[in-house]
Amino acid sequence: MNILVVEDENSIREVETAYLKNAGFNVYEAENGSKALSIFEKTNIELIVLDVNLPEIDGITVCRRIRSKSNVPIIMATARTEDQDELIGLDCGADDYIKKPFNPSILVARVKSLLKRTSSSQIGNEYIKIDEEKQQVKVNDIIIELTTTEFNILLTLIKNPGKVFNRESIIIKAYNDYGSSDILDRTVDVHIKNIRKKMKVSNDLPEFILTVIGKGYKFNDSI
Ligand code: CA
Repeated sequence: MNILVVEDENSIREVETAYLKNAGFNVYEAENGSKALSIFEKTNIELIVLDVNLPEIDGITVCRRIRSKSNVPIIMATARTEDQDELIGLDCGADDYIKKPFNPSILVARVKSLLKRTSSSQIGNEYIKIDEEKQQVKVNDIIIELTTTEFNILLTLIKNPGKVFNRESIIIKAYNDYGSSDILDRTVDVHIKNIRKKMKVSNDLPEFILTVIGKGYKFNDSI
């Protein structure tokens, strides 16, 4: 589990990092907003502890930028009570707030509770339940076995219902591959075929993944 700690004060950041590492998390550190954004772009960060008062790009701006493209859980660390008011007023999209100075073990507890909250909010609809952390998919409460690639493809589509993905973007999402390899469009079609087959646990189910002729695939947004 990768956590990004964004804090410009070295001593605080080091303590936060030490406690989180001790709790079993893999911690990335950033001392400013631009480094935080850069790490976030390149790494699979699963939760962010974000200081509000940062030099150059402040924490609220960092939070907004990340929120514009990701639902990653974010805990803001606020130094003053005014920050709290400001945060609530600005509604930058953070999931939780912790007031400084805080006991680092409280931070660890808040991180764990936020992770629990966000991972238990499963992705899916009335037929499908997806537990991203366990990489588990249930259709009509029946567990179906998907390969990692199939799982990634399904996840990409279901997280964006109605959005059309062409085969190339599906390859990028599912393989984290930016066109370097020999994965063919046809491979995507085979994966989709397999996913559909595996998901068809009963005959009265709607079509989950729709083909958009000449474009690609999309998740059925009328479910
Ligand atoms: Ca600070």
